[in-house]
Amino acid sequence: MNVEEFRKYGKEVIDYICEYGSNIEERDVAPTLDPGYLKKLLPADAPQSPESFKDVLEDFEQKIMPGVVHWNHPKFFAYFPSGNSFPSVLGDMLSSAIGSIGFSWASCPAAAELETIVMNWYAKALGLPKAFVSDAPGSTGGGALQGSASECVLVSLITARARAISELKGQTTVHDSVFLPNLIAYASREAHSSVEKATKMALVKLRIIDADERGRMRVDLLQQAIQNDVNAGLTPFFVVATVGTTGGCAFDDISEIGKVCRQVSSIWLHVDGAYAGNSFILPEMRVFSAGLEYADSFNTNPNKLLLTNFDASALWVRDVMTLKSALNVNPLYLRHEHMNGVDYRHYGIPLSRRFRALKLWFVFRTYGVKGLQEYIRNHMVLAKKFEMLVRKDERFEVRNDVHLGLVCFRMRTGDEPNHLLLAQINHSGKMHMTPAKFNGRYVIRFCVTYEHATEKDILDAWSQIKGFAEEILRDTQLEISSAPATPETERTSSEPVAVTGKPPIKKILTRTKSLRFSFTRSISREQFQSQSEHLMDGCTPILVVDPKTIQQSFQQAAEDNQNNNITKLKDISDVDTDEASN
Ligand code: PLP
Repeated sequence: MNVEEFRKYGKEVIDYICEYGSNIEERDVAPTLDPGYLKKLLPADAPQSPESFKDVLEDFEQKIMPGVVHWNHPKFFAYFPSGNSFPSVLGDMLSSAIGSIGFSWASCPAAAELETIVMNWYAKALGLPKAFVSDAPGSTGGGALQGSASECVLVSLITARARAISELKGQTTVHDSVFLPNLIAYASREAHSSVEKATKMALVKLRIIDADERGRMRVDLLQQAIQNDVNAGLTPFFVVATVGTTGGCAFDDISEIGKVCRQVSSIWLHVDGAYAGNSFILPEMRVFSAGLEYADSFNTNPNKLLLTNFDASALWVRDVMTLKSALNVNPLYLRHEHMNGVDYRHYGIPLSRRFRALKLWFVFRTYGVKGLQEYIRNHMVLAKKFEMLVRKDERFEVRNDVHLGLVCFRMRTGDEPNHLLLAQINHSGKMHMTPAKFNGRYVIRFCVTYEHATEKDILDAWSQIKGFAEEILRDTQLEISSAPATPETERTSSEPVAVTGKPPIKKILTRTKSLRFSFTRSISREQFQSQSEHLMDGCTPILVVDPKTIQQSFQQAAEDNQNNNITKLKDISDVDTDEASN
């Protein structure tokens, strides 16, 4: 494609994007297709000869768009928002056009320096403790953009692991892996599965702490678990608190968790605020960020609630040197003459990094902090509106505390009719929602996600939901339970159950060809029905086996340490890495 063609098609694509956004409501929010639909439409091999870009664009509209879920549709109420805005799209376009790979200051000074500046703007806008702001007097902290919240959790865990192992190892030269069986991490039952994935990758144990009826980590149980593990000779090294859990947007009490963590020096407290952390841009939401001063690291995704396109996830740490020494490798070919400039390759997993700060800078400048505050407040008002509508209808109940944009609701029946309600909602193509299990109950998550969401979107959605519910209740002849609706009263009362016998669910399900239950793994029935130790998005926790022999090696190393007797285990020796360079 030459520059003139690029100019022509570039303008066409921008026009297409504008039309797409303006007329998005004419499209179904999600398609009703079966897996493999695209294979039938596209050839099995890449073309040997160039094709015209016009044909490519035509196929995009004819073949690709029908398989797209429209995350920026006014009736998309699933998951959490996929941040998006015109300034962000433009920033991303420029980043793609420039194509710099900013792993070091030398590889793209503007990318490195803008990232530092924007991360400080962002931290200040959220009211984060000064310890996370790299240009605050006396601060040893700072932030970096990562690809996802999952990556932020992993990077924090790896850093915490390195710090804990270094303390355990002391002067001995035994291999770091010897200490793995002793390390144990903690997260609430409601924490995101990325915590479990991170512990799985890092080969450390994860202890899951129960949550209270509002979905918050039980701090008393955390304290007890840590105490028991210390007594058993384990080393608690990583605690994850969540502000805005995925299932019910519950906020863990960071202050109380922080106080417990402070009692054990080896613990690194990470606070995961993938979605709701952004809400701290509102002073009225900072009641939930109290206690962040105890945190060693904190993450939030501007690509969820800050109108910034995927991918952009912000991670701040209190002590940048600890992070960098955990991840530092420094081969000759990456060294440069300005090693006092910031090299973000030491702040995360990949070497190569996109110029992500550009889109975030565009967003901050074009909306201003006030514009971003207005956007989030609008979501909050609309979620409250939806909550009120649900609460006013005695056939339904709201299961979570609605502080931000997420409302978890259900019909006051058993779970099966609620499965069915969600299936009907999604199969209609007119709205899109996802399920969760919150406080032991199957709920439908209704999350306000659209940038320009209005009250009409909420009222329309509610009226359609009620229509589906009425159909289900009529078809299945279910009666609504008279059980109380609030979690508090429910603790002492019996389960709300369908009064009549088993509903003829199968008959109703045959009306829908493809029940699109497969968009997240959290929603398969098998997973939902399985009652074993689970994080709430449905996967089984990994508990690394504790081989006695390795335990003995660990004890041996501890004794050696005590005697200041430097031992080397068999042939396993440390791999040398260069010193952290910045
Ligand atoms: N943490 C929380 C609380 C989340 O809600 C999510 C996703 O929704 C994640 C982590 C994972 O986010 P990502 O997709 O950026 O890895």
